[in-house]
Amino acid sequence: MSVLVVGTVAFDAIETPFGKTDKIVGGAATYICLSASFFSKNLNLVSVVGGDFPNKAIDLLQKKGVNTKGLQIKKEEKTFFWSGKYHKDMNARDTLETQLNVLETFDPIVPPEHKNSEYLMLGNLMPSVQRRVLEQMNSKPKLIVLDTMNFWMDNFMPDLKEALKEVDVLTINDEEARQLSEEYSLVSAAKKILAMGPKYLIIKKGEHGALLFDKENVFFAPALPLESVLDPTGAGDSFAGGFMGYISQTDDITFENMKKAVVFGSIMASFCVEKFGTEQLQHVTKKMINCRLKNFIDLVKIELNSI
Ligand code: AMP
Repeated sequence: MSVLVVGTVAFDAIETPFGKTDKIVGGAATYICLSASFFSKNLNLVSVVGGDFPNKAIDLLQKKGVNTKGLQIKKEEKTFFWSGKYHKDMNARDTLETQLNVLETFDPIVPPEHKNSEYLMLGNLMPSVQRRVLEQMNSKPKLIVLDTMNFWMDNFMPDLKEALKEVDVLTINDEEARQLSEEYSLVSAAKKILAMGPKYLIIKKGEHGALLFDKENVFFAPALPLESVLDPTGAGDSFAGGFMGYISQTDDITFENMKKAVVFGSIMASFCVEKFGTEQLQHVTKKMINCRLKNFIDLVKIELNSI
Protein backbone atom coordinates (compact mmCIF):
# COMPACT_ATOMS: atom_id res chain seq x y z
CA MET A 1 0.00 0.00 0.00
CA SER A 2 1.42 3.38 -0.89
CA VAL A 3 1.66 6.15 1.66
CA LEU A 4 2.07 9.79 0.73
CA VAL A 5 3.58 11.94 3.47
CA VAL A 6 3.46 15.73 3.44
CA GLY A 7 4.97 17.91 6.15
CA THR A 8 7.91 20.04 7.11
CA VAL A 9 11.50 19.00 6.62
CA ALA A 10 13.31 21.42 8.85
CA PHE A 11 16.08 22.68 11.03
CA ASP A 12 15.31 22.71 14.75
CA ALA A 13 17.12 24.22 17.72
CA ILE A 14 15.96 22.56 20.92
CA GLU A 15 16.42 23.23 24.61
CA THR A 16 15.27 20.77 27.25
CA PRO A 17 16.19 20.46 30.93
CA PHE A 18 18.76 17.89 29.78
CA GLY A 19 20.60 19.84 27.11
CA LYS A 20 20.53 22.10 24.14
CA THR A 21 21.19 21.69 20.41
CA ASP A 22 22.23 24.07 17.66
CA LYS A 23 20.45 23.66 14.34
CA ILE A 24 19.76 19.98 13.82
CA VAL A 25 17.67 18.20 11.22
CA GLY A 26 14.03 17.81 12.18
CA GLY A 27 10.61 18.56 10.77
CA ALA A 28 7.31 16.79 11.01
CA ALA A 29 7.72 14.84 7.76
CA THR A 30 11.24 13.75 8.69
CA TYR A 31 10.02 12.12 11.89
CA ILE A 32 6.92 10.69 10.23
CA CYS A 33 8.94 9.09 7.43
CA LEU A 34 11.64 7.67 9.69
CA SER A 35 9.00 6.14 11.91
CA ALA A 36 6.70 4.87 9.14
CA SER A 37 9.67 3.34 7.28
CA PHE A 38 9.58 0.35 9.66
CA PHE A 39 6.10 -0.53 8.42
CA SER A 40 5.84 0.70 4.84
CA LYS A 41 7.90 -0.20 1.79
CA ASN A 42 6.11 2.38 -0.35
CA LEU A 43 6.64 5.69 1.36
CA ASN A 44 6.63 8.90 -0.65
CA LEU A 45 7.48 12.38 0.58
CA VAL A 46 6.23 15.77 -0.58
CA SER A 47 7.98 18.71 1.07
CA VAL A 48 10.42 21.55 0.51
CA VAL A 49 13.87 22.55 1.79
CA GLY A 50 16.34 25.32 1.00
CA GLY A 51 19.84 25.15 -0.47
CA ASP A 52 21.21 25.07 3.09
CA PHE A 53 19.74 21.61 3.79
CA PRO A 54 22.36 18.84 3.98
CA ASN A 55 22.31 16.14 1.28
CA LYS A 56 23.31 13.71 3.99
CA ALA A 57 19.88 14.07 5.62
CA ILE A 58 18.12 13.41 2.31
CA ASP A 59 20.36 10.38 1.74
CA LEU A 60 19.33 9.04 5.14
CA LEU A 61 15.64 9.21 4.22
CA GLN A 62 16.39 7.48 0.93
CA LYS A 63 18.36 4.77 2.71
CA LYS A 64 15.28 4.16 4.86
CA GLY A 65 13.35 3.57 1.63
CA VAL A 66 11.66 6.96 1.40
CA ASN A 67 11.02 8.17 -2.15
CA THR A 68 12.04 11.85 -2.16
CA LYS A 69 10.97 12.71 -5.71
CA GLY A 70 8.37 15.12 -4.29
CA LEU A 71 10.93 16.93 -2.10
CA GLN A 72 11.58 20.31 -3.70
CA ILE A 73 15.00 21.90 -3.14
CA LYS A 74 14.95 25.69 -3.48
CA LYS A 75 18.66 26.43 -3.86
CA GLU A 76 18.40 30.17 -3.28
CA GLU A 77 16.21 29.93 -0.17
CA LYS A 78 16.47 28.86 3.44
CA THR A 79 14.95 25.78 5.08
CA PHE A 80 12.06 26.13 7.56
CA PHE A 81 13.44 26.73 11.05
CA TRP A 82 11.82 26.11 14.41
CA SER A 83 13.20 26.51 17.90
CA GLY A 84 11.56 25.45 21.11
CA LYS A 85 12.23 25.21 24.80
CA TYR A 86 10.71 22.57 27.06
CA HIS A 87 9.58 23.26 30.60
CA LYS A 88 10.76 21.19 33.56
CA ASP A 89 7.62 19.16 32.95
CA MET A 90 8.49 18.18 29.41
CA ASN A 91 4.84 17.75 28.44
CA ALA A 92 4.85 21.53 27.94
CA ARG A 93 7.02 23.61 25.64
CA ASP A 94 7.26 27.12 24.26
CA THR A 95 8.01 27.87 20.66
CA LEU A 96 10.82 30.44 20.69
CA GLU A 97 10.96 31.06 16.97
CA THR A 98 9.32 29.89 13.76
CA GLN A 99 10.95 31.02 10.50
CA LEU A 100 8.78 29.88 7.62
CA ASN A 101 11.46 30.64 4.97
CA VAL A 102 10.83 28.26 2.00
CA LEU A 103 7.39 27.45 3.38
CA GLU A 104 6.18 30.97 2.76
CA THR A 105 5.80 30.39 -0.98
CA PHE A 106 5.64 26.60 -1.01
CA ASP A 107 3.43 25.11 -3.71
CA PRO A 108 3.41 21.35 -3.12
CA ILE A 109 3.54 19.30 -6.29
CA VAL A 110 2.41 15.70 -5.98
CA PRO A 111 4.29 13.60 -8.56
CA PRO A 112 1.75 11.96 -10.97
CA GLU A 113 2.64 8.44 -9.79
CA HIS A 114 1.61 9.34 -6.21
CA LYS A 115 -1.74 10.90 -7.02
CA ASN A 116 -3.49 7.59 -6.37
CA SER A 117 -1.79 6.82 -3.05
CA GLU A 118 -3.96 4.64 -0.82
CA TYR A 119 -2.94 6.43 2.36
CA LEU A 120 -2.32 10.13 2.86
CA MET A 121 -0.52 11.54 5.90
CA LEU A 122 -0.88 15.31 6.02
CA GLY A 123 1.83 16.11 8.54
CA ASN A 124 2.07 19.39 10.38
CA LEU A 125 2.21 22.17 7.79
CA MET A 126 0.36 25.26 6.64
CA PRO A 127 -3.30 24.15 6.33
CA SER A 128 -3.63 25.72 2.86
CA VAL A 129 -0.68 23.59 1.69
CA GLN A 130 -2.29 20.48 3.20
CA ARG A 131 -5.43 21.31 1.20
CA ARG A 132 -3.44 21.89 -2.02
CA VAL A 133 -2.17 18.33 -1.69
CA LEU A 134 -5.69 16.98 -1.18
CA GLU A 135 -6.84 18.78 -4.34
CA GLN A 136 -4.19 17.05 -6.42
CA MET A 137 -5.19 13.49 -5.50
CA ASN A 138 -6.86 11.67 -8.42
CA SER A 139 -8.81 9.36 -6.16
CA LYS A 140 -9.81 9.68 -2.52
CA PRO A 141 -7.25 7.84 -0.36
CA LYS A 142 -8.57 5.04 1.88
CA LEU A 143 -7.53 7.07 4.89
CA ILE A 144 -6.45 10.69 5.27
CA VAL A 145 -4.74 11.58 8.55
CA LEU A 146 -4.00 15.20 9.41
CA ASP A 147 -1.69 16.46 12.12
CA THR A 148 -1.41 20.10 13.07
CA MET A 149 -0.35 22.35 15.94
CA ASN A 150 -1.15 25.51 17.91
CA PHE A 151 0.90 27.73 15.53
CA TRP A 152 -1.59 27.08 12.71
CA MET A 153 -4.56 27.41 15.06
CA ASP A 154 -3.26 30.80 16.24
CA ASN A 155 -2.65 32.12 12.74
CA PHE A 156 -4.74 30.17 10.20
CA MET A 157 -7.79 28.77 12.03
CA PRO A 158 -10.32 29.30 9.16
CA ASP A 159 -8.02 27.46 6.71
CA LEU A 160 -7.49 24.67 9.21
CA LYS A 161 -11.23 24.25 9.76
CA GLU A 162 -11.71 23.94 5.99
CA ALA A 163 -9.03 21.23 5.83
CA LEU A 164 -10.66 19.36 8.73
CA LYS A 165 -13.84 18.88 6.70
CA GLU A 166 -11.92 16.67 4.30
CA VAL A 167 -9.94 14.35 6.57
CA ASP A 168 -10.67 11.04 8.29
CA VAL A 169 -8.37 11.22 11.30
CA LEU A 170 -7.06 14.25 13.19
CA THR A 171 -4.09 13.88 15.54
CA ILE A 172 -3.40 16.71 17.99
CA ASN A 173 -2.23 17.06 21.58
CA ASP A 174 -4.47 17.79 24.56
CA GLU A 175 -3.66 21.50 24.65
CA GLU A 176 -4.45 21.82 20.94
CA ALA A 177 -7.70 19.86 21.36
CA ARG A 178 -8.75 22.37 24.02
CA GLN A 179 -7.77 25.31 21.82
CA LEU A 180 -9.61 23.95 18.78
CA SER A 181 -12.79 23.05 20.64
CA GLU A 182 -12.78 25.73 23.34
CA GLU A 183 -13.68 22.96 25.77
CA TYR A 184 -11.64 21.85 28.79
CA SER A 185 -12.96 18.30 29.09
CA LEU A 186 -11.28 16.17 26.44
CA VAL A 187 -14.47 14.13 26.03
CA SER A 188 -16.44 17.30 25.26
CA ALA A 189 -13.59 18.52 23.06
CA ALA A 190 -13.66 15.27 21.10
CA LYS A 191 -17.42 15.58 20.50
CA LYS A 192 -17.02 19.09 19.12
CA ILE A 193 -14.00 18.23 16.99
CA LEU A 194 -15.66 15.14 15.50
CA ALA A 195 -18.52 17.42 14.46
CA MET A 196 -16.03 19.53 12.48
CA GLY A 197 -15.33 16.77 9.95
CA PRO A 198 -12.89 14.04 11.06
CA LYS A 199 -14.40 10.60 11.75
CA TYR A 200 -11.67 9.78 14.23
CA LEU A 201 -9.68 11.90 16.64
CA ILE A 202 -6.44 11.03 18.38
CA ILE A 203 -5.48 13.19 21.34
CA LYS A 204 -1.83 12.78 22.31
CA LYS A 205 -1.06 13.40 25.96
CA GLY A 206 2.73 13.10 25.98
CA GLU A 207 3.95 10.82 28.75
CA HIS A 208 0.30 10.26 29.72
CA GLY A 209 -0.52 8.30 26.58
CA ALA A 210 -3.04 8.80 23.79
CA LEU A 211 -6.80 8.68 23.35
CA LEU A 212 -8.57 7.50 20.21
CA PHE A 213 -12.18 8.59 19.66
CA ASP A 214 -14.89 8.01 17.14
CA LYS A 215 -18.50 9.03 17.67
CA GLU A 216 -19.34 5.90 19.69
CA ASN A 217 -16.06 4.59 21.07
CA VAL A 218 -13.04 5.65 23.00
CA PHE A 219 -9.74 3.81 23.46
CA PHE A 220 -6.76 4.71 25.62
CA ALA A 221 -3.16 3.60 25.28
CA PRO A 222 -0.59 4.58 27.90
CA ALA A 223 2.85 5.77 26.95
CA LEU A 224 5.60 3.33 27.88
CA PRO A 225 7.27 4.39 31.13
CA LEU A 226 10.86 5.24 30.16
CA GLU A 227 14.01 5.58 32.18
CA SER A 228 15.48 8.31 30.03
CA VAL A 229 13.58 11.09 28.23
CA LEU A 230 15.91 13.70 26.78
CA ASP A 231 13.90 15.47 24.08
CA PRO A 232 10.19 15.09 23.24
CA THR A 233 10.54 16.90 19.89
CA GLY A 234 9.01 14.85 17.11
CA ALA A 235 7.21 12.45 19.45
CA GLY A 236 3.85 13.41 17.97
CA ASP A 237 5.13 12.95 14.43
CA SER A 238 6.82 9.65 15.25
CA PHE A 239 3.48 8.58 16.72
CA ALA A 240 1.70 9.59 13.51
CA GLY A 241 4.30 7.74 11.41
CA GLY A 242 3.90 4.55 13.43
CA PHE A 243 0.11 4.88 13.34
CA MET A 244 -0.11 5.45 9.59
CA GLY A 245 2.64 2.95 8.86
CA TYR A 246 0.82 0.18 10.72
CA ILE A 247 -2.56 1.04 9.17
CA SER A 248 -1.07 0.95 5.67
CA GLN A 249 0.83 -2.28 6.34
CA THR A 250 -2.34 -4.02 7.56
CA ASP A 251 -4.61 -2.20 5.09
CA ASP A 252 -7.40 -2.16 7.63
CA ILE A 253 -9.14 1.05 8.69
CA THR A 254 -11.52 -0.35 11.31
CA PHE A 255 -11.60 1.13 14.82
CA GLU A 256 -10.26 -2.17 16.18
CA ASN A 257 -7.20 -1.95 13.95
CA MET A 258 -6.73 1.72 14.76
CA LYS A 259 -6.38 0.70 18.41
CA LYS A 260 -3.42 -1.48 17.43
CA ALA A 261 -2.01 1.33 15.30
CA VAL A 262 -2.18 3.66 18.32
CA VAL A 263 -0.04 1.18 20.25
CA PHE A 264 2.58 1.11 17.48
CA GLY A 265 2.41 4.91 17.38
CA SER A 266 3.15 5.03 21.11
CA ILE A 267 6.05 2.63 20.69
CA MET A 268 7.63 4.73 17.94
CA ALA A 269 7.20 7.89 20.02
CA SER A 270 8.87 6.13 22.96
CA PHE A 271 12.04 5.68 20.90
CA CYS A 272 12.01 9.22 19.59
CA VAL A 273 12.14 10.91 23.01
CA GLU A 274 15.10 8.92 24.29
CA LYS A 275 17.68 11.04 22.45
CA PHE A 276 17.83 14.50 20.88
CA GLY A 277 16.33 15.01 17.42
CA THR A 278 16.07 12.01 15.13
CA GLU A 279 19.12 10.24 16.55
CA GLN A 280 17.38 7.36 18.25
CA LEU A 281 14.90 6.76 15.41
CA GLN A 282 17.85 6.29 13.06
CA HIS A 283 19.08 3.35 15.08
CA VAL A 284 15.85 1.54 15.87
CA THR A 285 15.44 -2.00 14.55
CA LYS A 286 12.38 -4.19 14.08
CA LYS A 287 13.66 -6.35 16.92
CA MET A 288 13.64 -3.32 19.25
CA ILE A 289 10.08 -2.47 18.17
CA ASN A 290 8.89 -6.00 18.87
CA CYS A 291 10.60 -6.00 22.25
CA ARG A 292 8.79 -2.78 23.21
CA LEU A 293 5.54 -4.30 21.97
CA LYS A 294 6.03 -7.14 24.42
CA ASN A 295 6.78 -4.62 27.21
CA PHE A 296 3.65 -2.76 26.27
CA ILE A 297 1.46 -5.86 26.41
CA ASP A 298 2.94 -6.79 29.81
CA LEU A 299 2.32 -3.25 31.05
CA VAL A 300 -1.39 -3.24 30.32
CA LYS A 301 -2.24 -6.92 30.90
CA ILE A 302 -4.53 -7.53 33.86
CA GLU A 303 -6.75 -10.36 35.00
CA LEU A 304 -9.57 -9.39 37.32
CA ASN A 305 -12.56 -11.08 38.84
CA SER A 306 -15.65 -9.11 39.78
CA ILE A 307 -16.21 -8.67 43.53
P1 AMP B 1 6.24 17.48 17.48
O1 AMP B 1 7.21 17.53 18.62
O2 AMP B 1 5.80 16.12 17.12
O3 AMP B 1 5.12 18.46 17.62
O4 AMP B 1 7.03 17.97 16.18
C1 AMP B 1 8.17 18.75 16.22
C2 AMP B 1 8.60 19.05 14.79
O5 AMP B 1 7.63 19.91 14.19
C3 AMP B 1 9.91 19.79 14.76
O6 AMP B 1 10.89 18.98 14.14
C4 AMP B 1 9.64 21.06 13.96
O7 AMP B 1 10.53 21.27 12.90
C5 AMP B 1 8.26 20.88 13.40
N1 AMP B 1 7.47 22.10 13.51
C6 AMP B 1 7.52 23.04 14.48
N2 AMP B 1 6.64 24.03 14.23
C7 AMP B 1 6.00 23.69 13.09
C8 AMP B 1 4.98 24.28 12.31
N3 AMP B 1 4.41 25.43 12.67
N4 AMP B 1 4.57 23.63 11.21
C9 AMP B 1 5.12 22.48 10.86
N5 AMP B 1 6.10 21.85 11.52
C10 AMP B 1 6.54 22.45 12.63
